[in-house]
Amino acid sequence: MAQAFLEHLTDTLSQIEADGLKKVERPISGPQGARMQVQGREMINLCANNYLGLADHPALIETAKQALDSHGYGMASVRFICGTQELHRALEQKLASFLGQDDAILFAACFDANGAVFEPLLGPEDAVISDALNHASIIDGIRLCKARRFRYANSDMADLEAKLKEAREGGARHVMIATDGVFSMDGYLAKLGEIRALADRYDAVLMVDDCHATGFMGPGGAGTPAHAGVSADILTGTLGKALGGAIGGYVAASQPVVDLLRQRGRPYLFSNALPPAVVAAGITALDLVAQGDDLRARLFENTAYWRAGLERLGFDLLPGEHPIVPVMLGEARLAQEMAARLFDEGVYVSGFFFPVVPKGQARIRTQMNAALTRADLDEALGAFERAGRAVGVLP
Ligand SMILES: *Cc1c(COP(=O)(O)O)cnc(C)c1O
Repeated sequence: MAQAFLEHLTDTLSQIEADGLKKVERPISGPQGARMQVQGREMINLCANNYLGLADHPALIETAKQALDSHGYGMASVRFICGTQELHRALEQKLASFLGQDDAILFAACFDANGAVFEPLLGPEDAVISDALNHASIIDGIRLCKARRFRYANSDMADLEAKLKEAREGGARHVMIATDGVFSMDGYLAKLGEIRALADRYDAVLMVDDCHATGFMGPGGAGTPAHAGVSADILTGTLGKALGGAIGGYVAASQPVVDLLRQRGRPYLFSNALPPAVVAAGITALDLVAQGDDLRARLFENTAYWRAGLERLGFDLLPGEHPIVPVMLGEARLAQEMAARLFDEGVYVSGFFFPVVPKGQARIRTQMNAALTRADLDEALGAFERAGRAVGVLP
């Protein structure tokens, strides 16, 4: 390989490290859970997307084992050649009915679902209007389509309306609004009631990525549109968060949308089918979600208890109702130091700082789940208190 090329990469890596932006991965041993083993120590886990605590649920593990026996390990094919088992269709139909849509189509991940969803549906005559804080996969998916692109300031309805007007005045044939259901750095919900009303006024299609909501937000866990009492035209989501946390994504929508994605969605056509164990366990995860009112109640009780505890200690929190509870620290250095001290205390959290969040808004993003007990939360609050004093954010 050309020496200059490798040197260039090494320089880039050094710069990432010098800027304090290097991401390190800590291997965990054993399953993902409320407590887990990290580098030989037991830690309370406050940074997983395991909202309902299903990642190590015995029913999912059992279903996956059975599916390995009955349906084998891998598919070794894309769906349209010989990669579709009855399990795949069963999960798609179950997802669709859970989400109140005609049909659904599975992808290897939601990153792929978002990479697939725009390009076949929108042409150069069309426009897509995207929230500035949308997930990277939405941004990339939009880059792949030929529609005219607009971006509105995060949850700024006046700006969204201005962009809708501009798109319509520019003669757009079809207009699509794309938004996350939950903005995951802040735990803020998209203003779907207002967005739906604007979409209707300007005859736009509404696409919502509900990765951080499906399974627990809204009545029955149907997500942020249900929570806001509206419907989305196109929903994307993941099996990798509340729905068991393994892998897999989907688009759920009306029949022509799903049918066209099956014909033209490139990450669908040119990538392997999901393995049967994951698909079968996905079906079981949806059953658990359907019976999951107690899990959702525990999740939101934990969220309220955690939020109140941190507030009582004097931490600066962003307001909200979502199980993402960001503890605001300001400077990147503080967030890193706080995360390191919490790690020493046996609490696993992640610090977020520029460029992931704006400069001066560094934070520790804590995430609640249904598997955490009061004892876990009390222990974590004690650790936050000691770490907060040590770094000087608490008196
Ligand atoms: C996690 C996430 C994704 C990616 O989902 P995967 O299934 O892990 O690829 C996409 N969009 C949003 C909003 C997410 O939070």
